[in-house]
Amino acid sequence: MLIRSLKKILFYYIILLAQELYTQESSVELPLIGDRLSGAVSQTEEEILGRQFLRDLKRESNILYDPIVQEWSELFVYKIGEVSKVNKKSYEILLIEDNSLNAFAAPGGIIGINAGLFKYADNEAQFASVIAHELAHLSERHFARQILESSDRSNANLATILASIVVAVATRSPAAVIGGQGLIATQTLRFSRQYETEADREGFLTLAKSGYDTREMSGMFKNMQEIRRLSGDNIPEFLLTHPITTRRITESRERARNAPKEGIIDSLNYKLIKSRVNFLMTDNLSIRALENNNYTKDEEIYFSALLEKKKLNYTKSLEILKGLEKKYPDNLIIKTSIAEIYTESGNVGKSKKYTQDLLDISLGNYPLSYNLANAYILEEDYIAAEQILEDIKFYRPVDIKLLKDLSEVQLKSNNLLGFHLTNSEYLFYSGRYEEALRDLQQARALSTNNFKIREIITERILILQSYVRNQRTRS
Ligand SMILES: [Zn+2]
Repeated sequence: MLIRSLKKILFYYIILLAQELYTQESSVELPLIGDRLSGAVSQTEEEILGRQFLRDLKRESNILYDPIVQEWSELFVYKIGEVSKVNKKSYEILLIEDNSLNAFAAPGGIIGINAGLFKYADNEAQFASVIAHELAHLSERHFARQILESSDRSNANLATILASIVVAVATRSPAAVIGGQGLIATQTLRFSRQYETEADREGFLTLAKSGYDTREMSGMFKNMQEIRRLSGDNIPEFLLTHPITTRRITESRERARNAPKEGIIDSLNYKLIKSRVNFLMTDNLSIRALENNNYTKDEEIYFSALLEKKKLNYTKSLEILKGLEKKYPDNLIIKTSIAEIYTESGNVGKSKKYTQDLLDISLGNYPLSYNLANAYILEEDYIAAEQILEDIKFYRPVDIKLLKDLSEVQLKSNNLLGFHLTNSEYLFYSGRYEEALRDLQQARALSTNNFKIREIITERILILQSYVRNQRTRS
């Protein structure tokens, strides 16, 4: 069944490639002449397939949506990416709601991070070492090179590789589930040992340039070795594609020894985010069992505040966070968490004032803006909420959680045209084309009086219809 879905997704990519090249002709850049790699996969092709890959991932896997964690992760990847050799410095970061260890990169600046990476990376430098390694796969153009060097060209094209990543991410343990047939899936997304060595080497340089303690790279390898030892037959995806050999560990130790400059190991923010992800991944049943723990470290105290919030003990939660705020008066993660409690506890007036004051200093901050919108929603001031969400959408146009929330606000404020338009965008970026088309048709029916909008909608309908046709052909 999984193989079938892999083939389906794959077929889709090929059709879409031709199609998107056509519809987005104006933005197509000419490939560099004489670039051997671009002959295998042009950068434009990578971009287009990357975008499609992103929509498939959003449809097929569980995404972890949390503005605070999302913002931290984005800033983090951009920071590391800045000193990496990746030439296109814009990234799309997707957090996967999965506690097993995994991270992946795909052309088009797409970085996927499993919740499990936060769980298993003991500190920020270890977390950074994995991200730096993944970015190196992009900067060294390993996808294109793998295709170029493959002897079996039929089974090695970018579409196959990306489709197999979708399948692997969507199913927790592809090897275990698919069995023998799944070999195509796992083999295509496994880079050669030479590329892994290259990614380790390049990732190390990036890690050093970002100012992190490079010794932590081998620390992360040791953690991975330990996970491998404990996981039995249920080996996490990342360890299947990244076998830890003694050579990898030795080489990373050697490199660190030759570059003995000490760097950053950890930060309060990473510890807080790690706690927050841990909290988000804890189900209600386990929360009960955590009640009587004795929390002493700052990040544990933060975790306990989130637990109290979950139990609706807002006063207690706020009291704990206020204690942390006193200790770290400039920490925005703590402050935003306080703002969220004001909103969630229904103290809308306080939430708006507190959040707005912070926004005056941190202009356009994403988690704070989101919190302000939520406060307005609670107050049933949908027009104000819509305005804020529209502002966020301006720089987060493919954020499907945002699009979903915006469409709901538009529905509540009786902006039906806006609702159908936004909802169709939400569905499109979630890879659900047929439903997206239905919403667009409803939007067109509502826009009889506005010629200009009607024209735009008609144009979008035509494009979507071809997506839908392809979807039908393959099933
Ligand atoms: Zn790798």
